[in-house]
Amino acid sequence: MTEQSWCLSGELPFAAAETLELLLEEIAGESGDFPPTLSYFEQKDLPLWRVEIFFPAAPDYGLINAMLTRAGLLDWDHDIAPIEDKDWVSESQKLLHPVEAGCFFIYGSHDADKAKSMSINIQIDAGQAFGTGQHETTAACLEALSDYSTTLKPNTVLDLGTGSGVLALAAHKLWPDAKVTASDIDPIAVDVCRENIDINSGTIRTDSKNNAGIKLAVADGLDDPAFTDDLPFDLITANILAGPLIDMSADISGALAPGGALILSGLLCTQEKEVLDAYVARGLSIQGRIERGEWLALKLSKG
Ligand code: SAH
Repeated sequence: MTEQSWCLSGELPFAAAETLELLLEEIAGESGDFPPTLSYFEQKDLPLWRVEIFFPAAPDYGLINAMLTRAGLLDWDHDIAPIEDKDWVSESQKLLHPVEAGCFFIYGSHDADKAKSMSINIQIDAGQAFGTGQHETTAACLEALSDYSTTLKPNTVLDLGTGSGVLALAAHKLWPDAKVTASDIDPIAVDVCRENIDINSGTIRTDSKNNAGIKLAVADGLDDPAFTDDLPFDLITANILAGPLIDMSADISGALAPGGALILSGLLCTQEKEVLDAYVARGLSIQGRIERGEWLALKLSKG
């Protein structure tokens, strides 16, 4: 169990705050201890500085007394209180804003009330797997998928390196009859993906019969029996990095059906040529590109 943290706080002129910091170090040093962390910061339109001293456990009143005595601040009006136990994960999630990309609206659970009736809404909370939609590469892939919404009707889709499962879910929502496979080298990502399918009322397919939904696979690249039953894929999304995309260019191109579409991302604009060359050499051609900041998504087709 982690101990309850405490905070001593109050307001002081800048010079007194500086003195406290020095004394804290000096007194802690005398007993061979690390001093607790002290920070002080200016307050807008106020002459006094805000001082905070953090104790990782119950505060050391001996140290506090010695510090205030030496600083001549025994009558300083300050507070000592335990720090409210916050759920830092959900606090940081609240900082994420919804992302709109093409026909998709990706939001965290704290923004559930903002879901849009005219969009395909997908709820993804920031967690242990990449893919909240905040990153340019994910948003660019969502935009590319959106572009294909009217022109493509894939029976089989692969999302290679699914992370949170956001792209697999996007494909599943666009084409509910398709057999989607979501794979990742990281088993934690696959667990997160499973949870996100559930949260978004998606269908998980557990076998390779002719049913629709998302099948999950933990696999490194494509050399895995998990893919055999669904090969070849009419659409593949792979938002990984330029290096692995080049390394896997033969496998990815080979897994794509003739006439199939491929969305590649995770590459920087500066890496476009080397990635494209690897795929053109395998018979694919470029259909479009989506730039977001310094990142890029490529739309390719086979045949
Ligand atoms: N598809 C999501 C996540 C992209 S992050 C999105 O677009 O936001 C890239 C993911 O690829 C990570 O989850 C990582 O674990 C996975 N990955 C990296 N190398 C891989 C490989 N060789 N095979 C399968 N997955 C891989």
